[in-house]
Amino acid sequence: MSFISPVVPAFSEKAQERVRDARDFAWSASRHDTFATCPRKYYYSYYGILEDPEVQRLKRLSALALWAGSVVHETIEEFLRTNDAIPEPAVQEALIRSVVHGRMLNEWKESEGGILGFRLFEHEYTQPIEQEDKKILVGIVMRSMKHFFKSSLLREAFRVKRSAWLSMEELVSFHVDDVPVFLRMDLAFRDERDRVRIVDWKTGRSAGKFNDLQIAGYALYAAEQGWVSSATEISTELAYLFWPRYVRKEVTQPVLDHARAFVTRSAKTMRALLADPEANTARIEDFPRIDKPRICRRCNFRRLCFPRADALDVRPSRRSVAKNP
Ligand code: SF4
Repeated sequence: MSFISPVVPAFSEKAQERVRDARDFAWSASRHDTFATCPRKYYYSYYGILEDPEVQRLKRLSALALWAGSVVHETIEEFLRTNDAIPEPAVQEALIRSVVHGRMLNEWKESEGGILGFRLFEHEYTQPIEQEDKKILVGIVMRSMKHFFKSSLLREAFRVKRSAWLSMEELVSFHVDDVPVFLRMDLAFRDERDRVRIVDWKTGRSAGKFNDLQIAGYALYAAEQGWVSSATEISTELAYLFWPRYVRKEVTQPVLDHARAFVTRSAKTMRALLADPEANTARIEDFPRIDKPRICRRCNFRRLCFPRADALDVRPSRRSVAKNP
C-alpha cells in the first residue's frame, strides 16, 4: 500500500489534551455522542482513561475511516497555518502525494509494527483489511484534498486575509449556565460582507448524528465571544469534501436557545450517574454495558468488555470503511 510524512508522536498533543480535559467535567458534542452510544464506553473515555494506561492506549486506536478524516484535517490545518495562497496544481498534487506516500505509509507501518505509537483499530483487533479497503481509504484522502484546493471557501478565506480569521483548530471553551463547553472549530472567518462564517471540513459522505448540535455550539461560542451582535450574522458551512458538497446553515436565535437547553439537559443526565458530581468522579459499575454487537464490534474498548478474542469477531461491512468519520 502506498501511503504519509511526520509520524504522529506516541501520545500526540491532542491526545494528551484529551486526558487533561477529562479531569474536569466539560460538555462537548462528542461527549454527548459517546454517552448516547454506550454508558460504559463513556466511562472508559472520560474516567477510566485517567487511571489506566491500557484504556488510554485503546482510546487512541483509530479505525480506517477515522484515520482518513484525521489525515485530511491535519493536512488542511498544516496547509492553512503555513500558506496564504492556493498553490499551483502541480504543487497541490505533490502535497497530496507526499501525504499518501509519506505520512500514511509511515503510520501504516507503525501500526502494523506494534502496539505503541499510531495504531489502527483493524490491526489491534486483527481484522483483515483488503486491497479494496485501502483503495477506498486513499481515494477518500486524495479526493477530499483535491476538492479542498478547489473549494470556494478556501478562496474566500484567503481573499479576506488571515487578519479576518477568527479561529482555526484551537480548543476553546465557554459556559452554558454552569456547564463548561469545549469545542474546536476547523476554521472561522469574517467574510467580505462582515458575516461570520464557520467552516467544518468533512470527509464522510453524509451528515453525522450530532452535526446540527455541533454547529449550534459553534454559533453559541461566536455569539458569546461578541463576534456578532445577532445570531443571524453567523452562518455555518459543512464542507463535504469527498463529493464535494457544501451545505450552508443559517443560524437563528431559536437555534441558539435550543442548543443551550440541550447542553444543560445533556450535562445533567451525564452528571446524574457520577459517584460525586462535585469532584467529577465515577464508578464503573454505574455505567452499564450495552447489548448491541453491531456497535461493540466497532468499539475501541471491546477487548475490555469481551476478553475472549472471538466473542464479537465478525467481519465489518465495507461500508464502515467509507462511513462518516
Ligand atoms: S464494547 Fe460495547 S459495551 Fe463495551 S464499551 Fe464498547 S460499546 Fe460499550
